[in-house]
Amino acid sequence: MNFTIVKELRRLTWLLLLAGLAAWLLRSLWPLLVVLAGYTAFNLLQLVRLNRWLLQYPADWEPPESSGAWGDLFNSLYRLLRKENLARDELGQLIRRTENSMSALRDGVVVLDRRQQLETWNQAAAQALGLRMASDRGQALTNLVRHPALSAYLQGNDFSQPLCLPAPTGKERLLEYSITRFGAGEYLILIRDVTRLHRLEQMRKDFVANVSHELKTPLTVFKGYLETLIETVPAEQAALHRALQHMGAQSERMELLIRDLLLLSRLENTETRNDPQPVAVAGLVQGLVDGLDLLIRNKGQQVRLEIPPDLHLQGDETELASAFGNLLANAVHYSGQDACIHVHWQPDAGEGAGGRLIFDDTGPGIAAHHLPRLTERFYRPDASRVTATGGTGLGLAIVKHVLLRHNGQLEIDSTPGQGSRFACRFEMQGDLAGSG
Ligand code: ADP
Repeated sequence: MNFTIVKELRRLTWLLLLAGLAAWLLRSLWPLLVVLAGYTAFNLLQLVRLNRWLLQYPADWEPPESSGAWGDLFNSLYRLLRKENLARDELGQLIRRTENSMSALRDGVVVLDRRQQLETWNQAAAQALGLRMASDRGQALTNLVRHPALSAYLQGNDFSQPLCLPAPTGKERLLEYSITRFGAGEYLILIRDVTRLHRLEQMRKDFVANVSHELKTPLTVFKGYLETLIETVPAEQAALHRALQHMGAQSERMELLIRDLLLLSRLENTETRNDPQPVAVAGLVQGLVDGLDLLIRNKGQQVRLEIPPDLHLQGDETELASAFGNLLANAVHYSGQDACIHVHWQPDAGEGAGGRLIFDDTGPGIAAHHLPRLTERFYRPDASRVTATGGTGLGLAIVKHVLLRHNGQLEIDSTPGQGSRFACRFEMQGDLAGSG
């Protein structure tokens, strides 16, 4: 049994014994009644003191003085309240420290609750989004940052990629929103000013586009003279003839490079066409195969097409031809003699769902560690293959960009020594891709 209760019972027993003795000596019940009344009054008084102390807490810190069970009770309560007070202080300090470090951050931080309403934010976020501390709390973020892309991004619930938008406070500034879900479905949004980065990126794109454009004219002149020279130099001057032919081949390659660089710049810098046309895929791919027919026959390769004749993708025919053409040309170029190339359509399950246009080959394959970087410009896993095929190193980058502009994605799978699979994945929901 609890020690406090034992003590209290012992005290009560002593009181009752003394009162009983007095009652026996005086032959009267009065001493007993007086002791019981006194004991009850004492307990009532302690209850009143406890109540008063609790009402005044924490202004009146020290607990009332008392002995026995009441004294122990006051002390236990006092210790408990002190502990709770300390914990509250520590929590308060932690919150203040978190708030201070949040406001010291140069990037904006916004916390939204489950209903995407503003809970808290730091100074940088307030400046970037033009938030006011008190009145904006509890408002939906999309009411304050009015942009259809932000609403769609929050609705979409896919935050694997950040979102870039003009700042609501000034159109020249560009903000990048990165969202993480945490706790019970709340949102933590990091807001970064990427205006400078964006400007640098734009400068890089413009530079590449301008250089490629400027190189076109001198190269045309150079090629023209070279062709004339090749025709005029007598065949007896074999060494000079070989050198000129070598120069001709290299200038041909340079022309292809400039063509691909300009195409990439156009894909990066121009908006997606907003009047997509239905493109008949089977006819398009057949045309591309016909274009490579001589090479395919020379290599003794077999190309098998399995594309439904009524399959149509909504988009830009020239861009799609460029993407599929690059994938087909790679399959033909990189696969050796007698290889099999299989181009087929694999629809996703479900009515109107998307699908994949797959280019399978039985070529040399690509090691797994190269796959994530394969669509980078000029990334080549094997330089010796390039010399053999004369590629520009931009083919897969072009494919990736064309697919992005068609709500699509490039998926690559390969096993060295067995072959490769390049799949163009198309979503069928949006405006850009669909079976017609
Ligand atoms: P390139 O002009 O060099 O072909 P790409 O961007 O089209 O540039 O391809 C990048 C690299 O990916 C190529 O250099 C090649 O090593 C590899 N590659 C692409 N397609 C295939 C394929 N079907 N089989 C094997 N390797 C491939």
